[in-house]
Amino acid sequence: MEIIDNVNLMQQKANELRLHGNKIALVPTMGYFHEGHLELMRIAKKYSDVLVVSIFVNPIQFGPSEDYNRYPRDIKGDEKKAKEVGVDILFIPSVEEMYPEGFQTKVCVERLTQHLCGKFRPGHFDGVTTVVAKLFHIIKPHIAVFGQKDYQQLMVIKRMVKDLNMDIEIIGAPTFRETDGLAMSSRNTYLSKEQRESALCLKKSIDMAKSMVHKGICTTSEIKKAIEELIRSHPFTRIEYISICDPDTLEEIEEIKERALLAMAVYVGKARLIDNAIIEKYK
Ligand code: AMP
Repeated sequence: MEIIDNVNLMQQKANELRLHGNKIALVPTMGYFHEGHLELMRIAKKYSDVLVVSIFVNPIQFGPSEDYNRYPRDIKGDEKKAKEVGVDILFIPSVEEMYPEGFQTKVCVERLTQHLCGKFRPGHFDGVTTVVAKLFHIIKPHIAVFGQKDYQQLMVIKRMVKDLNMDIEIIGAPTFRETDGLAMSSRNTYLSKEQRESALCLKKSIDMAKSMVHKGICTTSEIKKAIEELIRSHPFTRIEYISICDPDTLEEIEEIKERALLAMAVYVGKARLIDNAIIEKYK
């Protein structure tokens, strides 16, 4: 496995790989790998000849009061895991390398970013699309894999790729969970043992919402109220949002007709956790 920390070198490497007919896959990450990340890498490997994984904790996607400084990092551990999965190139640029003095350009997807997490994290998705666009230009992948765990992010990236005619196939990978249902996240490391127990309320909410819909309760205010009560009954929790919306536009809906996205963000202690699921009435 090759480790590259320089943008020019990475671009040269990508040009050579393309010249020799290789299909490049990219999995962008912020590191501190868990099985969810590794699954994305395994999927990406299947679709490509060369797998590039980037590790970059992107400062411009964090708000001033968010966890940029304390975001967990473990480059040595990540290198070992990436090697075991069969990653070909680990791209680990510094902040100075990605945002040299004078940097002033932004990529912004306008409407999809107004909902869900976008409402509570102003500027977050502009930071995401800007860094992902940069990574696409540096690594020149044919395909890139993103997790459905960050459903809105996946939709926003797909939109950017379509709108800006980027010739890259975006693949969404299912959410990888711990055996008890908690969605894997680097931020789970912030949880104490008791908070870890409370964090299960997100997956329990998804299961409850699905069973309500299957019983014919499809009014979203009713479902959201039940979820609120369930989450509030778990200590250490603070709800940021619970949304039931159209899976394509992310606009709130009042009644589930066929398919809907349930998405939520809940603080458990200091950890801001997100989870989501598509709810289908007839499945
Ligand atoms: P992050 O390092 O948190 O920015 O995540 C990097 C990529 O891994 C993103 O595309 C995430 O959506 C994806 N990811 C994170 N957690 C999971 C998970 N539990 N299951 C599937 N994909 C995930």
